[in-house]
Amino acid sequence: MIRNVHVDIDHAPYSILIGEGLLQSVEPLIALLAQKRVAIVTNETIAPLYLAGLVAQLEAAGVECQSIILPDGEKYKTWDSLNLIFDALLTARAERKTTLVALGGGVIGDMTGFAAAVYQRGVPFIQIPTTLLAQVDSSVGGKTAINHPLGKNMLGAFYQPKLVLADLSTLSTLPQREFSAGMAEVIKYGLIDDLEFLVWLEENMDALMARDVDLIAYAVERCCQNKARIVAADEKETGQRALLNLGHTFGHAIEAGLGYGVWLHGEAVAAGMVLAAHASRALGHLQAADVDRVINLLQRAGLPVVSPALGGERYKALMAQDKKVDAGRIKFILLRQLGEAYIGELPEIAIDTALLAGCES
Ligand code: NAD
Ligand code: MG
Repeated sequence: MIRNVHVDIDHAPYSILIGEGLLQSVEPLIALLAQKRVAIVTNETIAPLYLAGLVAQLEAAGVECQSIILPDGEKYKTWDSLNLIFDALLTARAERKTTLVALGGGVIGDMTGFAAAVYQRGVPFIQIPTTLLAQVDSSVGGKTAINHPLGKNMLGAFYQPKLVLADLSTLSTLPQREFSAGMAEVIKYGLIDDLEFLVWLEENMDALMARDVDLIAYAVERCCQNKARIVAADEKETGQRALLNLGHTFGHAIEAGLGYGVWLHGEAVAAGMVLAAHASRALGHLQAADVDRVINLLQRAGLPVVSPALGGERYKALMAQDKKVDAGRIKFILLRQLGEAYIGELPEIAIDTALLAGCES
């Protein structure tokens, strides 16, 4: 069964197809090509697993394929890697109708999307996300970026794909730690505005972690529906799209404070959501039992729920560098109740209370 989630963005609507074995039947991808020519961007880890199969199918349909294989890792989400993509495209004389295909996780998706936005002022682009995080989050919504030494995702563009093909079979090779990291973003959607989904996750988390594919299919679809709705209403994040950053202001501070790569993004978001829950409790919105529910669910997904002891001043300094800072004030995503997030400010005393409750002593 193939699930189809429509992303209803006015100027560029597209479909997210979700199912098992989609890489074995890429007709929907071929049907969208403006020219029978693609450049597939992937990395050294994913290429041996999935590249040859994809290329064989495309070539069998008469599509000319160029493969661009980058080193693996967040530390390569840089201007240098972007240039490797441009070098390869220009050397092969890729044209304006050549489609860029991102085959990989969020790092490959973000870089390929940015390359597509910029190459010859914009070429078509298709996402084939291969991590849980990319399938529920980064491949949907059109945010593309690379990192700068002075900040993560600081250079990029809003640029929507023509199609997202989420083949659930690719998750079979994904390490469990990466699967857990993606699950943090899945839980995030329940906390933001989908209490019914949160309850469903509480009922099904053990089976999800045991990789029950039908349950994963439902979860990916539900997350994409939620993200598609939020993005369609606010593509450029002038308002409610910021809700998707629940746990991310604290989380980015953890990632940067420990040094990028020590904790995975999803792990930092998990601990960050616990801090956001503690802060929401300090404001009088949540009960202790609500915070415990958040902690319990994240723990069952194999995620950290206690933040590293970086010190209050360091946390505040790191959070002040966030992209969500507006005229010097940090915008926090907080919980009015479970399943209802809002954008607000956090008095310093509530930050201190949350850090005291949620950090290693
Ligand atoms: P990732 O792309 O680094 O992938 C994680 C690891 O899994 C990598 O080593 C990768 O090679 C490997 N891998 C990928 N698919 C595999 C598979 N099927 N089998 C085995 N190994 C596989 O990390 P990620 O968690 O997918 O993405 C994180 C990135 O996404 C960050 O750079 C983050 O900034 C970005 N992001 C972007 C958005 C957005 O809206 N654009 C949203 C969330 C995150
Ligand atoms: Mg995230």
